[in-house]
Amino acid sequence: MEFEIWWLLCIPVFFGLGWIAARVDIKQLLSESRSLPRGYFKGLNFLLNEQPDKAIDAFIEIVKLDPETADLHFALGNLFRRRGETERAIRMHQNLLLRPDLPQEQQIQARYELGQDFLKAGLLDRAEDVFKNLTETQYNTTARRALLEIFQREKEWEQAIHAAEALQDSGAGSRQKEIAQFYCEMAQDQLINTHPEKAMPLLERALKVDRLNVRATILLGDALIAQGRVDDAIATWRRIEKQSMPHIVLVAQRLMDAYLKTERSKEGISLLKSYLAEASSIDLLEVVFQALIKYENVEAANTLVLDELKRTPTLLGLDKLLEARMMIASPEARQDLSMVKNLVHGYASKLARYQCDHCGFQARQFYWQCPGCHLWETYPPRRTEELNLSA
Ligand SMILES: [Zn+2]
Repeated sequence: MEFEIWWLLCIPVFFGLGWIAARVDIKQLLSESRSLPRGYFKGLNFLLNEQPDKAIDAFIEIVKLDPETADLHFALGNLFRRRGETERAIRMHQNLLLRPDLPQEQQIQARYELGQDFLKAGLLDRAEDVFKNLTETQYNTTARRALLEIFQREKEWEQAIHAAEALQDSGAGSRQKEIAQFYCEMAQDQLINTHPEKAMPLLERALKVDRLNVRATILLGDALIAQGRVDDAIATWRRIEKQSMPHIVLVAQRLMDAYLKTERSKEGISLLKSYLAEASSIDLLEVVFQALIKYENVEAANTLVLDELKRTPTLLGLDKLLEARMMIASPEARQDLSMVKNLVHGYASKLARYQCDHCGFQARQFYWQCPGCHLWETYPPRRTEELNLSA
């Protein structure tokens, strides 16, 4: 291609165009920034200097002077809620809702935010009212999720079941596990009120929804025992072998007691021993250990613990061995052993916790719903020391 000298003329033209474009941009930016209240920059400056309290004061000033700024209301409201200042968040969103000219979309958003404020503040009744009125809007799924949380916190299990089913129907994923747990909660209330016959159908519903729900099987056995049907209870609890073998430890003591009631302690001990042989477990060991001391002899208990400790060396196992040794030791040896036992026991008890798989919350007691993150069935039925061994 031949080079023509007049092409050189294009270069200053392009420069000129670039210069004009830059001027236009800067002019626009300047005019926009002039339209922003000075308080914005003051607030931003505080935020950038990590002084959120002063930033909030500056933004509140703007909201007072220029009440049209709905987005700023939302931003501030959320900020207050996150900081736990729920009263201020509620006021912020209520003020927005009082505005007659607020567009429909922002009105719904303000109602949703207000519901979240009430929830955070623990004003469950008011939160419930707000979210119930949002199920026909674009906040449908989140409103239903919030309602589900509210019913659980209020222990309104029947309503929680309806909310979970509605959520499930709206395509927000399976809720079968939770629904089964809600039936279990209702059944447990019936058992506490000594109505085992009313608990039974609820537990059958739970198992129909989630056939692997161990808790329902445990409670079903409890309901049968309460009605004097010991053999049926044993057969029911033994179904956990097929549902989830590690969970069998949760009914070990119940099984032992049931075998005792029917004067079959030997059969009970040998069943639990067979479970123990399948997988070592400190809780199972404890039940068999105590049963051997009571119904056989200390030597048998001692041998069991020693064998188990050889197989799985744990501090919790050692604690148990020292307990057994103290029972057969001479009075002088017992004094020394007692000192060692106290020391080991102190350490071991810290390892005998249950731990949530989801949030890591540790508890001495086994929970079906984590007190930390409120999720269901997140606790493995094993102690922290055993969990660390298998990790
Ligand atoms: Zn948790």
